[in-house]
Amino acid sequence: MRRFEPGEPVALREIWKDQIWSARPATVVSHDNPLMFYLPIGVRWMCPRAGGQWLRIPRDEWQLVERSWSDTRVLSFARAGEGHATLLFFDDDWTPRTWYVNLQEPLRRTSVGFDHMDQHLDALVAIDRSAWSWKDEDELAEAISHGTLPPEDESRLRSEGERAVRRILDREPPFDRDWSDWRPDPSWPVPALPEGWDRI
Ligand code: MG
Repeated sequence: MRRFEPGEPVALREIWKDQIWSARPATVVSHDNPLMFYLPIGVRWMCPRAGGQWLRIPRDEWQLVERSWSDTRVLSFARAGEGHATLLFFDDDWTPRTWYVNLQEPLRRTSVGFDHMDQHLDALVAIDRSAWSWKDEDELAEAISHGTLPPEDESRLRSEGERAVRRILDREPPFDRDWSDWRPDPSWPVPALPEGWDRI
């Protein structure tokens, strides 16, 4: 498959039991290693819903409902084959807010973008890299108790998360530069899900 060009919209999908669990449009910043994506404010994405609630833990039946990504700009870095993405969150006025390690399956290239599944546990790293903490440990515990994540995966996820945090703290490339001054090409539109995003 060809490489995506900078500025091209792609679908970042979560797949659960061969069905689409969520789908987010993102703009490709770089189809190198690491892959880089940008999610601007105003993106319309498809989120899983059932019983009148937005879902965090997979279940047998759900619907995809459109939702607006409203308050954060996100620059995302993902290395090939690795079980996490490192995100840099900005406020609307481009004030950098936090580093965010999202534990997830390695990205799999598709015709419309990349597929993976979230792994619940996350970590937050302060912008000045002075401190870090786990996030969504309750969601991890819930996924294990619901049987959607094997209990033995927890130690693997924590090791992966600690490694990812360490890379930010130690300023390993690409985190050796200050990405807070990064800005998207002004000609890039807010991305929409590309044609075919809803087919596996
Ligand atoms: Mg997560």
